[in-house]
Amino acid sequence: MRIVVLGAGVVGVAAAWYLAADGHEVTVVDRQAGAALETSFANGGQISASHAEPWANPGAPRTILKWLGREDAPLLFRLRADPRQWLWGLSFLRECLPHRTRRNTIQCLNLALYSRDCLRALRAATGIEYDRNENGILQIYTDAREFEHGVDGAAMMREFGIDRAVESADRCVGIEPALAQCRDRLAGGIYTASDESGDAHHFTRALAARAAERGVVFRYGVTVEALPHEGDELVGARVSDSAGRREVVAADAYVLALGSYSPLLLRPLGVRCPVYPVKGYSATIDIGGHRGAPTVSLTDIAAKIVMTRLGDRLRVAGTAELSGYSTDLNAVRCEALARRTFDLFPDAGRRSPIEYWAGLRPATPSNVPCLGRTRYRNLFVDTGHGTLGWTMACGSGRALADVVAGRRPEVAFDFTRS
Ligand SMILES: Cc1cc2nc3c(=O)[nH]c(=O)nc-3n(C[C@H](O)[C@H](O)[C@H](O)COP(=O)(O)OP(=O)(O)OC[C@H]3O[C@@H](n4cnc5c(N)ncnc54)[C@H](O)[C@@H]3O)c2cc1C
Repeated sequence: MRIVVLGAGVVGVAAAWYLAADGHEVTVVDRQAGAALETSFANGGQISASHAEPWANPGAPRTILKWLGREDAPLLFRLRADPRQWLWGLSFLRECLPHRTRRNTIQCLNLALYSRDCLRALRAATGIEYDRNENGILQIYTDAREFEHGVDGAAMMREFGIDRAVESADRCVGIEPALAQCRDRLAGGIYTASDESGDAHHFTRALAARAAERGVVFRYGVTVEALPHEGDELVGARVSDSAGRREVVAADAYVLALGSYSPLLLRPLGVRCPVYPVKGYSATIDIGGHRGAPTVSLTDIAAKIVMTRLGDRLRVAGTAELSGYSTDLNAVRCEALARRTFDLFPDAGRRSPIEYWAGLRPATPSNVPCLGRTRYRNLFVDTGHGTLGWTMACGSGRALADVVAGRRPEVAFDFTRS
C-alpha cells in the first residue's frame, strides 16, 4: 500500500519505520525542516516504562489545587476562554476516579513495556545510537512523607508486575554516586533497573535516516492544511509548502501523528481526539569539565522534574502548563529547573549558557494515547502520547503497523475506533 504518515516527530517516524518494514511504500510529511523539531526535540529523555502511571489519579485534584496560582508550580492551569481547555480539565477530573485510574494505568503500562521491548529489538537490528543509557531510572525523594507514599505506590505496582526497588538514602548514593552532593537531603529512593534513557531527537533523526535508506520518502517544509474525504474514505492530504504552492498528496492510507496539532485536523472530520497541549520546559546543561552530574536518569519527586545524562550534556525537564499553543519561554519556570539542579548537584556543569526549550505534550485527559482506526476506513491515528511519547513511540508504531495490516497486535491495549 502507499501510506502517508503525517508528522515526523518520534511517533510518526517510528510508525513510518514499522510500516516500511511491512513492505509499504511510505511518505512522511512534516512542516518543519527535519525530523523531531517540535515536541520530540528536547524532552526529558526517559524511557520510563515502569513509571507509566497517568497524571490523572485520585490524589491529583488535591495536589493541583495546592499549586493553583503558583508561578513555579509543577502543574499550572492558566485558565483561558477556550472551551477545549475546560472540557479537557473536566475530563481529566473524571479520569481521577479510582476505577478509571486503574484502567488507564494498565493501558499505559502495557503499551510502555511493549514499546521498550520494541525499542530494544530495533536497536539490536539497526545499531542506532542516541546517547542511550541503560542504567535504569531512580526516583529520589527529599520529603519523608512523599517517600512513604512512594513506598506504598511501589507495593501497589508489584500487583502489575512492575518491580520497583525501595532504596535507602545510602543505597541511592551507591546507585548514583553524584547524589553524595545532596545525601543529607535524601529521604530515600525507588529504583527500576530495567528502565532506560536517551536522546529522542537524535534517535528520531537517526531512524529517519535509516528509513530513508530503505526507501521512505520524507517531505519537509510541507504543512498539512486539511484532509478531504468522500464518504468514509480520505481522498488525500491537502498540503502547502513555504512558497505557498498547494497540492493534494494522495495515498491508499493515512496515519495521523501530528502531536498536539492532531485534533485541529481531525475535528473537521468528526473524529474524536481529546488531545490538548500541555507545555513543558527543559534545560540542557553542558557538563564541561565538571564531575558532579548524575549518570543514572533521575526523577526528583519533590520538584517533579527529571534529569537525564545525554553524553556530555545534562537534560533537566519538567513542569506542565495548560496555556494553549504558545511555546514562549517563561523565565521563572526556566530558572526553577536550573536552580533545583545546581541546588542538588552544585558541580553538575556549566551554569551559563544553559539552553532552555519548551514543547507541547500532546496530552489526553487519561494519558492513554489515541492509537488505531477511525471511522474513515483509510485513516489511522497515532497520537496523544502526552508525557510518554518517547517511551511509547516504538510500540505504538509497531502495533499500528499490525492494525493497518489487519493483524492482531501483540500488546493488550484498547485500540481506538473513533
Ligand atoms: C518538557 C517535556 C519533557 C518530556 N519528557 C519525556 C520523557 O522523559 N519521556 C517520554 O517518553 N516523553 C517525554 N515527553 C513527551 C514526549 O516528548 C512527547 O510525547 C513526544 O515527543 C510526542 O511526539 P509526537 O511525534 O507525537 O509529537 P511531535 O514531536 O510534536 O511531532 C509532531 C510533528 O507534526 C508536525 N506537524 C504538526 N502539525 C503539522 C501540520 N499541520 N502540517 C505538517 N506537520 C505538522 C510537527 O512539525 C511535528 O514534527 C516530554 C515532553 C516535554 C514537553
